[in-house]
Amino acid sequence: MALTAEIIGVGTELLLGNTVNTDARDISEGLSALGINVFFHTVVGDNPARLRLAVEIAKRRADILITTGGLGPTCDDLTKETVAECFGKKLVFNEEEAENIRSYFEKSLRRTNITENNMRQAMLPEGCTVFRNHWGTAPGCAFRGDGKHVIMLPGPPRECVSMFNNCAVPYLRELSDSEIISHSIRIFGMGESVVEDKLHDMMLALENPTLAPYAKEGEVMLRVTAKAASVEEAEALMTPVLEKVRETIGDFIYAIDEENLESVVLRILREKNLTVAVAESCTGGLLQKRITDIPGASKSFSGGVVTYADKTKTLLLGVPAELIEKEGVVSSAVAKAMAEGVKEKIGADFGIGITGVAGPDTDERGNEIGTVFVSLSAFDCTYCRELHLGADRNRIRIMAVNHALDMLRRYLTGLRME
Ligand code: ATP
Ligand code: MG
Repeated sequence: MALTAEIIGVGTELLLGNTVNTDARDISEGLSALGINVFFHTVVGDNPARLRLAVEIAKRRADILITTGGLGPTCDDLTKETVAECFGKKLVFNEEEAENIRSYFEKSLRRTNITENNMRQAMLPEGCTVFRNHWGTAPGCAFRGDGKHVIMLPGPPRECVSMFNNCAVPYLRELSDSEIISHSIRIFGMGESVVEDKLHDMMLALENPTLAPYAKEGEVMLRVTAKAASVEEAEALMTPVLEKVRETIGDFIYAIDEENLESVVLRILREKNLTVAVAESCTGGLLQKRITDIPGASKSFSGGVVTYADKTKTLLLGVPAELIEKEGVVSSAVAKAMAEGVKEKIGADFGIGITGVAGPDTDERGNEIGTVFVSLSAFDCTYCRELHLGADRNRIRIMAVNHALDMLRRYLTGLRME
């Protein structure tokens, strides 16, 4: 039986809606990759009585309790005291951690006046495994009590996620005498329901490895997870499943394990020593943001423009005013002229042009909301996709960007373009 976990987010700011509970999301992703089932996310304010209640409930329904937040030096940081108490553990002063906190203050913050409450962070449950905080001050920890595993992580996302990956994951791997390995299969251009339909029987029949879908904005992700005595055995169990999924879904699979479309496209551009330039209208720079989110993008991304108004398309990209007048700004002809224009002006190997109606109103020519033309100007010709992406402004933009990246990926890997 797979272990189950509950994540308890501690912090009044999470209840008030000031802070989004990204820690729970990131930890959940990590746990699912370890084959640990997350059945509950709980959020509780900085209140010992209610935290105690949350811990008591979690103890009844999970094997692993993971708390986030409330490890800091301020008086509302009560997680350690409260959780330790729930398991009948005392907090003891940890001299090594105290030294580490002192040196963090001196070296990183250049402060020597360390207050008493900062040293409280060195109080840890007796007999725990300490998770040194290399990303901040408050140490995290793990201990066993009442037949459960308890892990406490700091609240600030960078500290929480780094400590989870570097300390908690190895700790959790140790709990199991087998290796759990997983691969993410990333799919674009085939809807979630179609993917599920094609693989439904296989998903149901599989036990080890398992195959499960994960919803992603504008795309589909499947995760294959295998459990075996060694990494090699786990990999061997997954090979036929990966083969079968490849056979069924075909070239809609854009990556195994790689993060997203933009990182795949940039990797291929870099490998081939090619560059791309971008001209965006309705996506307002989102494609360029997504591209430049990837470290090292400058090697392959030459640059781009946001040409929102018609006259800017003419001025900066050389799209003829008559063409806009005749075809309408949301048209295949204008998208192509934008792609060709930006490619030529910037002097890149590829040009991408995006024009469309993101809503909430239809345009003056009566194009329905969600009509978007995405064009790729490549070596041999200029391609264009006409899309109808529904009525949600945000989704329209994300999907338009995904399609642009997908067109370039397809061209670069020699796949059919339609
Ligand atoms: P600190 O040492 O900074 O006090 P802490 O472990 O006590 O750390 P908190 O005080 O609870 O953590 O939160 C610190 C910061 O982290 C706050 O800005 C808070 O908004 C953010 N934070 C806390 N919990 C979460 C969470 N679950 N997801 C995302 N951000 C969070
Ligand atoms: Mg705090």
